[in-house]
Amino acid sequence: MPELPEVETVRRGLAPYIESARIERVELRRPDLRFAFPERFAERLKGQAITQLNRRAKYLVATLSDGASWLSHLGMTGAFLVDDATLAEPSRIDPGGTSGKHVHVVAHLTHPERGPVILRYSDPRRFGFMDLFPAGAPNPYLDTLGPEPLGNALDAPYLAERLRGRKGPIKAVLLDQRVIAGLGNIYVCEALFLTGIDPRRPAGSLTGDEIERLVPTIRQVLTAAIAAGGSTLKDFSGANGQPGYFQHNFAVYGHEGEPCPVCATPITRIVQSGRSTFLCPTCQH
Ligand code: ZN
Repeated sequence: MPELPEVETVRRGLAPYIESARIERVELRRPDLRFAFPERFAERLKGQAITQLNRRAKYLVATLSDGASWLSHLGMTGAFLVDDATLAEPSRIDPGGTSGKHVHVVAHLTHPERGPVILRYSDPRRFGFMDLFPAGAPNPYLDTLGPEPLGNALDAPYLAERLRGRKGPIKAVLLDQRVIAGLGNIYVCEALFLTGIDPRRPAGSLTGDEIERLVPTIRQVLTAAIAAGGSTLKDFSGANGQPGYFQHNFAVYGHEGEPCPVCATPITRIVQSGRSTFLCPTCQH
């Protein structure tokens, strides 16, 4: 499942092709993804320019010329592909397969410098979704989110305030999108390992010193993952291009039974709130 670094990698790959482009027409090849498309979706997009492509948590948010927000979530297998005259073949930011039967949305754009650009959304499992919000309208997906983990609003005093008195496990609290937006299972496991914190500890039991170390570590793991994704963007148009996140190296995530990279104790997998947590029972307290 794409997490924040993967969505950011997709955003950086797409932005040069679709920012400033005008939407000439949109084909919807089915009435829904995970949810139904919003009413008159294709007509409301038609004729608008995409002024900016941003990311908030794991959402891609395209701002349109009338101020509306076109929001996309990639779900498990969603992928955007771009195709323009400068590319020998469509891009491969594509974990879900390019085959036509999984392409559900096709937007025909005109970019001021590139000319015609085709933007396709493919999603074999269809857990992704899209929505459209007029300028200034409440947005139930974004309005309750906590600060971005890479933004200045997340700092140790903020996190200390949010953890104070919480009895739930630190892992669950860090995954709460109202506390930090866009932090997912993989990167929480990695950040807790790197700071030596046991994911089962009550969130309120973290010391000031631990919180001081946790905040920059969260930024570090996400930044490294974005850099790994970004480094493959050079091959965005190449036949061998692979999404960066297939190449990430995790210290503990997915390494059950393998030696801890620090102390060689076998990595343990436990289940918390129905999701796998990987930890080193020696390094994390
Ligand atoms: Zn260890």
